[in-house]
Amino acid sequence: MPASTLGSCSAVYARSMGQPLVDRFARVHRDLRISLTDRCSLRCTYCMPEQGNEWLARQSILTLDEIVEVATVAAAAGITTFRLTGGEPLLRTDIVEIVRRLAALETATGRMQIAMTTNGIRLPEVLPDLVDAGLTRLNISLDTLDRDRFRALTRRDRLEDVLDGIRAAQASGLRPLKINAVAMRGVNDDELVDLVAFAVAHDAQMRFIEQMPLDAGHTWDRSTMVTRDEILEALAARWALEPVPGRGGAPAEQWRLDGGPHTVGVIASVTAPFCGACDRMRLTADGQLRNCLFSIDEYDLLPVLRSDASTELRAAEVDRVLRNCIAGKKAGHAIDDPGFLQPARGMNAIGG
Ligand code: SAM
Ligand code: SF4
Repeated sequence: MPASTLGSCSAVYARSMGQPLVDRFARVHRDLRISLTDRCSLRCTYCMPEQGNEWLARQSILTLDEIVEVATVAAAAGITTFRLTGGEPLLRTDIVEIVRRLAALETATGRMQIAMTTNGIRLPEVLPDLVDAGLTRLNISLDTLDRDRFRALTRRDRLEDVLDGIRAAQASGLRPLKINAVAMRGVNDDELVDLVAFAVAHDAQMRFIEQMPLDAGHTWDRSTMVTRDEILEALAARWALEPVPGRGGAPAEQWRLDGGPHTVGVIASVTAPFCGACDRMRLTADGQLRNCLFSIDEYDLLPVLRSDASTELRAAEVDRVLRNCIAGKKAGHAIDDPGFLQPARGMNAIGG
């Protein structure tokens, strides 16, 4: 984008810089999920196709400096948490530097929270450096404890590597540690109790996610997905479940197991959507802002970040695009609407 074009639109919007990101439904946005890559060391069936994935062009992937440029404007607009995701965020060779630079950004309310969602595979190598750089929270995905199932589900024989990653996380001081599983009928729905027991043994919270229509193969079927109520019924056969109050904008509802201290979480995006309290927005690895996992619209930051305008003009324009994105946010994801369209990108390219 030429600098002159940027200059004329940015002057109008520079006034809004530093104001909170509030949408039409008075939702204040505090959480920016940053996808660092669409590549991954696994091929989970509910997320990516086995073959034939159309990868993002390498030259369109945001650099470390470009990510920090967006994050700096977002932090000034009230973002207090960056969640790093992907694809697999640990595949970025500059991951420690990304965490270090983002953790150094200031918020009005204290230390910037840097969370990460990962399949855990590179954690034993990099976790000490990530913690040193300022990582504050970790979610690790694990859908099954059975090696054959893991291989079938992820199309890779790497269960032991994930378990090593979870052990590394347990040994680190990062708490609360969370383990995420997508509950799937006929795949792992007989393992829900075992997964919770595994998490408890590793001083972690198990969180079950209802499967969402975000698979690259577009095979999701509402009638066969495992629901929140079914998950709770399975767990109630083993533990007394007591709801934990004070959920706020968090995606997971939580229950204490046998009075605590351990808890389990359920993210019921499909059967009990929590859009009314959503405070999240997303940045894809190729510089597209999204106001919802399920949105069809994207707001392109690449031309802004790669323009020859001054740092100040680019920042004003990034701020304008952030606000446009938030202004376009709908009340909810409308998965249940007859006209619902699944986003073209799979979960690995949106950032979970
Ligand atoms: N590779 C990392 C991982 O697996 O944790 C981060 C990216 S992954 C897309 C983020 C989260 O999205 C994971 O917990 C994964 O289980 C979840 N996920 C992926 N596809 C999903 C789907 N169709 N429905 C529900 N959750 C999904
Ligand atoms: Fe990779 Fe995470 Fe998607 Fe599995 S869910 S294929 S680990 S990005």
